[in-house]
Formats: sequence, C-alpha cells, structure tokens
Amino acid sequence: MNTVEKFSFSGEKVLVRVDFNVPFDAEFRITDDSRIRAALPTIKKILADGGSVILMSHLGRPKQGFSEKYSLKHLLYPLTELLQIPIKFAKDCIGEETVRLSATLQSGEVLLLENLRFYKEEEMGDKYFAAKLAALGTFYVNDAFGTAHRAHASTAIIANYFPEKKAFGYLMAKEVTNASQVMKASQGPFTAIVGGAKVSDKILIVENLLTIADNIIIGGGMAYTFFKASGGEIGNSLYEPDRLEVCIDILKKAKAKGVQIYLPVDSIIADKFAADANTQNGASDQIPSGWMGLDIGFEACEKFRSILLDSKTILWNGPMGVFEMPAFENGTKIVAQSVADATLLGAFSLIGGGDSAAAAHQFGFAEKVSYISTGGGALLEYFEGKTLPGIAAIES
Ligand code: AMP
Repeated sequence: MNTVEKFSFSGEKVLVRVDFNVPFDAEFRITDDSRIRAALPTIKKILADGGSVILMSHLGRPKQGFSEKYSLKHLLYPLTELLQIPIKFAKDCIGEETVRLSATLQSGEVLLLENLRFYKEEEMGDKYFAAKLAALGTFYVNDAFGTAHRAHASTAIIANYFPEKKAFGYLMAKEVTNASQVMKASQGPFTAIVGGAKVSDKILIVENLLTIADNIIIGGGMAYTFFKASGGEIGNSLYEPDRLEVCIDILKKAKAKGVQIYLPVDSIIADKFAADANTQNGASDQIPSGWMGLDIGFEACEKFRSILLDSKTILWNGPMGVFEMPAFENGTKIVAQSVADATLLGAFSLIGGGDSAAAAHQFGFAEKVSYISTGGGALLEYFEGKTLPGIAAIES
C-alpha cells in the first residue's frame, strides 16, 4: 500500500486532504476534535521529514460561496494548539493570494485552506478546480476516509495530477487495512451484526455480506420489516412496506448460500416511543397493536452473545434498539460487551457507523475491540462491495 510511511517529504509541499468536518457549538467552539487529532500523525510525519503541509478540507454543507458558519478559520486556533506551531490561513482555497501563500510556504510550515465546498466545483469533481488545487503543491496525500466514497475534486480527481507523488495518510491506511481484513474474513466464522433504523439504508450491505459472512445478525428497527415480511404481527413497530419483498429475497438467498440469518426472537416492546413508556418482553412476531419493538429481548441477547463468542471475525454496524433511551439500551450494550469479549478470545472486530461507535464509547467498550472506524458512509459503501473513488485514485 502506498502510504506516507514509504516517502520522505523533505522539500515537498504536500497537499493533504483531511476530514476536518467537526461539530461546533453556537460560539464556534469545537465540541469533538477527534477528526483533527486523527490527522495529526500524517501532518507531523511530513513536517518531521522537512516538508510543508497544505491542509484541504470541507466543513458542513454550505449552499453557495462563503458563509461564516462553515468557515475553516474557526479551526485555526485549535489546530495551532494541537500542533504547537503557528498555522497560516488562506481565506480562499484557490486564487492569487492562495498561490502566493503556498509559494512562500517554508519547510516545517502549515497552511490551512478555506472550506473547499465554498466552490460547487468541489463536489462536482471539476477537473479545472482540481488542477488549481493541485498547482499549490508538489505531492498529494489523502487522509480523509470519511469522504473516500465521493469522487470530489480534492478526494479523487486531484490525484490525476500526481501520478507518482501520491499516498494514503496514516488514518486512511489504517481504515483501509482494517476494513479489508474484515472483507477477507480469513479467520472464520465471520459474523456481521447489522442494526439501526431502516432496512432501506442497509440492504446493499446485507446483500454483499451474503457473499462473505457465515452469520448475519439483524437487530434494531430494521428487523421488524423482516418479521412483517414473514407474516408476523409487529404492532406499531417501525417498518417499510416497500421493502417486504427485498427481505423475503434476502432470506431466500441466505438459505441458498448457507448463510445463517438471525433475527431477534423476542423484543422489548413499549406502548409508546418514549423513555417512560410501559415495557414488556415479548415475541417479536406477535407484537400487539399499539405496542412497538424498541430493543431486542432477553432471549435474543443470549443467542446473539453466544454466536458472537464463537466468531473469529466480527463486523458491527448499527444499534440493536433505541439505545439513546436507557429503557431500550440493553440489547446494544450486550452486543457491545459480547464484541469486546469475543475480541478478548481472539476475534478480529471492527465497529463502523456513527451510532454503533457512539454506543461502544457510551458503554465503555471502545478500547476493547480491534478497531472503530471513523468513516460512516464510506465504510458502508466499502462493505457494500463498491470501489471507493478516494482509495482507487491513490491505488491506480
Ligand atoms: P442508523 O442511523 O440507521 O444506524 O439508525 C440508528 C437509529 O436507529 C438510532 O437512533 C436508534 O434509536 C434507531 N433505532 C434502533 N432500533 C430501533 C427500533 N426498534 N425502532 C425505532 N428506532 C430504532
């Protein structure tokens, strides 16, 4: 793999695409700087080699042109604090002044460019815009796994201008290595746990997993469309009427391929979608009208735990229930605990997707699994079997 580790950046002006799409409070204070911290090893390596760094990122979804709310200038101070060196800022990501700032950048210095998405050309993957960015540097590094599934100007198209001088940053390399270790599933049994709200968001990943997994555990709101499709009574549980056929199709394909699909036999059912609802443990396919399944039940927890403890490769995406409410967190907690315990027994475990990663942190198991991915959509597309433009652009 072409990573920054293989190069010395002495004398290079390195354009580094990072994912600094961080959350802010009303006073523009960053509420979670983990994405910035994740990019530091790559930046430090280039600086230590004697190179200079030009940082490119997007922030939010600005409509058109500059907007204060999405300006990367709010990152200048936190970045200075983290790197302990002064950072230069270009008020525009392209243009005369930016060309001047990059031309005068000395080795050991860092220049942060303004939000790339102030230009619609970024998301359009415009090659002229990519060429203008490319002209600012002598080497291209992609360390933004979160946007690797987009063929944007700065994530993919720009790589064409650096046929020999392009590499993955440390974070990106780590993400790709861990995700591919799961995809190879060299150590079986491979169990995938898929949860979350909707079947429609997870159909492609489940279909692709049918070709590599031994077991697929399905929990969360999406399980009830499967129960409905098989003729079950699901009361007022979440379900997608237009996905019944696809659920039947998945169950059939799994049978034909010898993949075991496990649905939660029982659920914690509630008489309203609220933290103080009345709750019961009941069969997932016999939920009375007016009640809804908001978590997997006790028997399902035990079953899923035993499957996980027997697994040697584990992928987990999506919570088992409405884990944000304590009354419905148990299933997600048990799964997080089981993934951690399986890891201790020698399994390779990867957690991906904002909600399951958040759950692993919330329940204190984040340090006890093999890897937690930072990429939401990018990771999903990877496991859907798609080629990610950001990865392909470096590998080609
Ligand atoms: P996703 O973004 O698709 O991974 O979905 C995560 C969301 O699904 C979380 O906010 C959960 O509260 C929600 N969720 C999980 N299980 C259920 C359920 N049984 N009914 C309704 N929402 C659920």
